[in-house]
Parts: sequence; structure tokens; C-alpha cells
Amino acid sequence: SRVLLTGGSGFLGAHVLDTLLKRGHSVVTTVRNSAKADKIRQRYAQYDSGKLAFAIVPDIALDGAFDEAVISDPPFDAVIHTASPYTFAITDVQSQLLDPAINGTTNILLSIAANAPSVRRVIITSSFAAMWQRDRGNWPEHTYSEADWNPVTHEEALTSPAVGYSGSKKLAEQAAWNFMDEKKPNFSLTTVNPPMVFGPMIHDVTLESVNTSNARIRDVLAGKWKDSVPDTGLFLCVDVRDAALIHVLAAEGEEMAGKRVMAVGGYYSNKEIVDIVRKEFPEYAGRLPEESSEGGDFPGGSVQNYFKFDNGRARGLLGSEFVGFQKTVVDLVASLKGLGA
Ligand code: NDP
Repeated sequence: SRVLLTGGSGFLGAHVLDTLLKRGHSVVTTVRNSAKADKIRQRYAQYDSGKLAFAIVPDIALDGAFDEAVISDPPFDAVIHTASPYTFAITDVQSQLLDPAINGTTNILLSIAANAPSVRRVIITSSFAAMWQRDRGNWPEHTYSEADWNPVTHEEALTSPAVGYSGSKKLAEQAAWNFMDEKKPNFSLTTVNPPMVFGPMIHDVTLESVNTSNARIRDVLAGKWKDSVPDTGLFLCVDVRDAALIHVLAAEGEEMAGKRVMAVGGYYSNKEIVDIVRKEFPEYAGRLPEESSEGGDFPGGSVQNYFKFDNGRARGLLGSEFVGFQKTVVDLVASLKGLGA
């Protein structure tokens, strides 16, 4: 089928693009400028413009940003919207996180409803951040599922970049479901809610500009955890290849129409990251903390003291096991080495 992808220049978006092309779809991806399009075209020189093309959308937050991108010949069957800022290096939550996340989401839905009547399915990348009730702490008696929403309000989101990001994902996802309820458009909506996404990078990136989630492993390799391993934060992750495939599978069938998909692969900890790097990449030994150092572990040293998760919906869609964390880290470190780590 023919798919419009937003954010094909990003870490996750590049894997969604790769998966779409390998599964035979024809893709138009939005990028901010033609230099970004050229980089992607170079990687996929074997695909002609019928299989891979580009639409320039300089800023997803602007009114009507996608009005032209959604128009295509042949017309689109599905849209996958991954573009949204995931960074804490900001000075203004409203304009740098909330506006692109929320307006970007409503903009694409409005443009599809107005200009792309052929679209049957829309997949939006939300986040586990939209589900995670951080104030509940470790909450060992709770099992997270698609029923969970974080309670962050617009006002609270403005208080810090971290809360701002959680707010941006929750408010954007909510805006999407509200749009569906109110406008009852011709297409169905699925949201994909991944926790920390790690894995090899196939987008145009440098060691300095590594995306937010993978930057943690770059920092390990650079020796930043030598004195102490930081707290893990959220102990849930998914491999980027699984997260991408979940988006594409959701776009290919009706099964996930009207649903959220909590794309959790499993647990991980910062301590495990260090252990895997120590074992698999002895060349970094001098930059790692002592083997006896204790930071980054699960509360009380056991996953039993942490909340549970029900990833049955995502697992059923994948139809196979998730990529294990060991492989994720090994492939990510290889990718970072390629960038000079
Ligand atoms: P990246 O920063 O690598 O990708 C973000 C993408 O969004 C890039 O293509 C970026 O374009 C684009 N983008 C951001 N803001 C704008 C804007 N104002 N106008 C146009 N394009 C914009 O991060 P990820 O790949 O990690 O994130 C992709 C999606 O996955 C996001 O929706 C994020 O919230 C979600 N997510 C990520 C997780 C993770 O751990 N990585 C976890 C859960 C969800 P450009 O490259 O030009 O800046």
C-alpha cells in the first residue's frame, strides 16, 4: 500500500521507513528540508521515486503544515505520524514541546480529513510517557496496560522539560482520540505507546546529535558513568526494530483500529547496560564503573519491587518474541562505534 510517514529523518522514523520499504510499501516521508531528503535518498538509491519520495514540512506545529503532504498520486492508504520532539534540551516547553506535539497531531488529522479521503488507517506514535504515572513510584501492585493515562495537566507540563515531554505526549494523544470522537472521520486511529526505545541508528546522526534515548549508551561508552551509574528512571524498554514493526503491522491491518498499543518489550536497567558493555566490548573496560558499583539497579535489587506490564496486545500483533535487551545493546554499541564512540 501507499503510506505517508512523518519524521523519516528521526531515530524511530528511519526504522519505520526501512520496515515499510522492506515490506514492499511505497512511501512518501516528510522531512524539514531537502538536505535531509537527500541523505535518506542516498541510503535507498535502489528505490525509485515511485517507491520512495519526500514532502518538505519545515515545521509540523504550523497551521496547515500537512495540507499538501497528504495529497499524492496514487493516493495514500495509510499515514504513520512519528514526528514529535523528544528532547529535554529546551528553554520553552510550550513552543518547543507542546506546540509541535499537539498541533502536529491535530494538523495531520485535519489535513487527512480535508484532503486525503483515500486514507483508511492512521497510526500515531504516542509514548509510554502518556501512560506512566510517575508520582505512583515503583507501584509493585500495579500492572500497566492500555487503560493507563498519566495525570499531567497543561499547567503542570509547563513546569519542567521532563514533565513537559510527558505532557506533550499525553495531551497530543488525547487530542487525537478527541478528534476521532468529535469528527468521526473516514479513517481509524491506532496509537503506539513505546517506553524507552533503544537500538541501532540508521538515520543521519553524529555522536553529538544521537537521539535522546540512545544518548545514555553513548554516555556510558564516553566514560560518563565511571564514578557512579545513574538511576535508571523508567525500567521499561523496546528495541527500535520491534517498535517500528509494530507501527507498520498496525498500518497494514484492521486489527488495531481504534486501539492503543503499549509497545513494551521488557525490563532493563542501567546496571544491565554496563554489564552487557563490560562483557561484550572489553575495549571500553577503562571507561566503565567498577564491577562492584551498585547504581542503576531495580528498587531493592529486584524487578519484583517494580510495577508489572501487560504487553499482550503488542506481542499478539508482532506474532513473535521481542528482541532481547542484550541484542539491542550490542547492536546499538556497534552503531555508536561506527560514529566514532
Ligand atoms: P528523534 O529526535 O530522532 O526524531 C524526532 C523526529 O521528529 C525527527 O524526524 C524530527 O525532525 C521530527 N520533528 C520534531 N519536531 C519537529 C517539528 N517541529 N517540525 C518537523 N519535524 C519535527 O526522536 P525519536 O525517534 O526518539 O522520536 C520519534 C517519536 O517517537 C516521537 O514521537 C517520540 O515522542 C516517540 N517516542 C520515542 C521514544 C524513545 O525512547 N526514543 C519513546 C517513546 C516515544 P528533525 O530530524 O529534522 O529534527
